[in-house]
Amino acid sequence: MLTQRQLFLQHNAQTTLAPLLLEFNKARGMYLYDTEGRKYMDLIAGIGVSNVGHCHPAVVSAVQQQAENYMHIMVYGEFVQSPQVNFAKALADVLPITLNCTYFVNSGTEAVEGAMKLAKRYTNRSEIISCKNSYHGSTQGALSLMGNEEFKQAYRPLLPGIKFIQYNDLADLDLITTRTAAVFIETIQGEAGIRIADQAYYEALRTKCTATGTLLVLDEIQCGFGRTGKLFGFEHFHIVPDILLLAKGIGGGMPIGAFISSKEIMASLAENPILGHITTFGGHPVSCAAGLATLETILAENMVAEVSEKGLYFKKLLQHPAIKEVRGIGLMMAIEFENFEVNKKIIDGCIEDGLISDWFLHCSNAMRIAPPLIITYEEIEEACNIILENVTKATA
Ligand code: PMP
Repeated sequence: MLTQRQLFLQHNAQTTLAPLLLEFNKARGMYLYDTEGRKYMDLIAGIGVSNVGHCHPAVVSAVQQQAENYMHIMVYGEFVQSPQVNFAKALADVLPITLNCTYFVNSGTEAVEGAMKLAKRYTNRSEIISCKNSYHGSTQGALSLMGNEEFKQAYRPLLPGIKFIQYNDLADLDLITTRTAAVFIETIQGEAGIRIADQAYYEALRTKCTATGTLLVLDEIQCGFGRTGKLFGFEHFHIVPDILLLAKGIGGGMPIGAFISSKEIMASLAENPILGHITTFGGHPVSCAAGLATLETILAENMVAEVSEKGLYFKKLLQHPAIKEVRGIGLMMAIEFENFEVNKKIIDGCIEDGLISDWFLHCSNAMRIAPPLIITYEEIEEACNIILENVTKATA
């Protein structure tokens, strides 16, 4: 009989020639458990998803309850579905007043797609600006925004009219003009290996967008929902986007994405033509119930309060001559090493020692740290000990 691993390789589409091939059958809080009962500390939270920890009881219970009431009943936007209403209202309550209208979709990528269409429709312009080394998703629209030719070349032609600027480069903001529909930018760049722009840059970007009538779209799919030490990344920099993109962590482990704007901007999707964006499963009631439970849990358990301090504790402990830099904000960090080979050895060694991490799409010499926000100080010490031992081993 074939093993699950063999069947996986045989019948499930592969995205790499070297998948990790770990096989888990349980996840709780900070930990994943493999089929042999071995426990692994999860330092990446399914790539920035399980902010409240795996299978948080409040999220599980909300999922169970909503699944019993109803699952899919209608495509998005026709029926009044209380999980969608309640989650949208809860988001409006924690966001600035101009971000009071949410369109729920299935994923981060679909949020990007929806926002691109919304910006074009609202501004009646077609040019979109994105950043070098950005990641916004993998469908053809979102891929067109990706600031790394290596992943795009094989899939051309992609969308025309996309221009690229260097993140955190003030001079490049001159490319934003009255022809630009929107600037898409990760508030904190994730796949570039965790890059944070300067306060002056965010301010200049906001000013330039306002002056040219360009919509500022902040992608907080990776950095949102508490990961940076504030509920939303833009709160650190005292700017407000015209459109905010969320996904990953907002569903507490269930699939959901959202693009959020003002009622006025969002209204343009409802006419000329109607149905400006259509999705069958977008805002799935079970995902929205999970999302609301996730947000309520983050707020009730005050989960964001210690995120900055926990991030600093990682930085304090991660001292080693072979570590070139530990950069990041809150629990969204990158440990940079000499090169990919060293990084890979360290990551593989950590996994062997029961600690899950990985690298970044556009920064292969850095290791990702993005654990559930519930990680304790003792667990941070344990994680750093494993990392440091493996840094020593890999570079001895
Ligand atoms: N934007 C950013 C910043 C992301 O990190 C990701 C996912 N890594 C996406 C968009 C795409 O989200 P999804 O995989 O849910 O489609």
